[in-house]
Amino acid sequence: RGDPRLQGISKAIRVVPDFPIPGIMFQDITTLLLDHKAFKDTVDIFVDRYRDMGISVVAGIEARGFVFGPSIALAIGAKFVPLRKPNKLPGEVISEAYVLEYGTDRLEMHVGAIEPGERALVIDDLVATGGTLSAAVRLLERMGAEVVECACVVGLPEVRGQRRLDGKPLYILVEPR
Ligand code: AMP
Repeated sequence: RGDPRLQGISKAIRVVPDFPIPGIMFQDITTLLLDHKAFKDTVDIFVDRYRDMGISVVAGIEARGFVFGPSIALAIGAKFVPLRKPNKLPGEVISEAYVLEYGTDRLEMHVGAIEPGERALVIDDLVATGGTLSAAVRLLERMGAEVVECACVVGLPEVRGQRRLDGKPLYILVEPR
């Protein structure tokens, strides 16, 4: 947490009040992607952490987990598996529902994307309640993978200080400003 790069990463994330609905302080990572140093620092910190952990699969959550996941996967020698919103994947899927503030949603993963016993990292841009990450963990575990850690760029106050999520280690770079 004393890493001097984290301040630059935090500053590069734009905070948009009341988006997409009143009361939400939206953490916009598109401005992080415009800042080459902050974007590269973000990927580098994850790559340094995960390169020697025997991870064979990086699973990214649609859509913003797709922004960071593939770069990390390529750098650590792992494959990338997209965990998608319902009815996007053309092959046979397994599916897990999760609760939102209003209603529920689902994440889907292709059957056959991973083999039992693979070591997985789950990546998304942000964790709030952890519901989305939990659904991702359940998908991977149903396929017999071992989830080594869940990683996010931003952790909201709901998970402040929390180093685990459903018994899985949770790694967060910054908290909202
Ligand atoms: P949760 O399942 O509650 O942990 O919510 C995390 C998911 O919702 C992630 O995929 C985020 O991209 C998105 N999300 C939730 N709250 C915010 C926020 N304040 N700013 C940006 N994205 C958010």
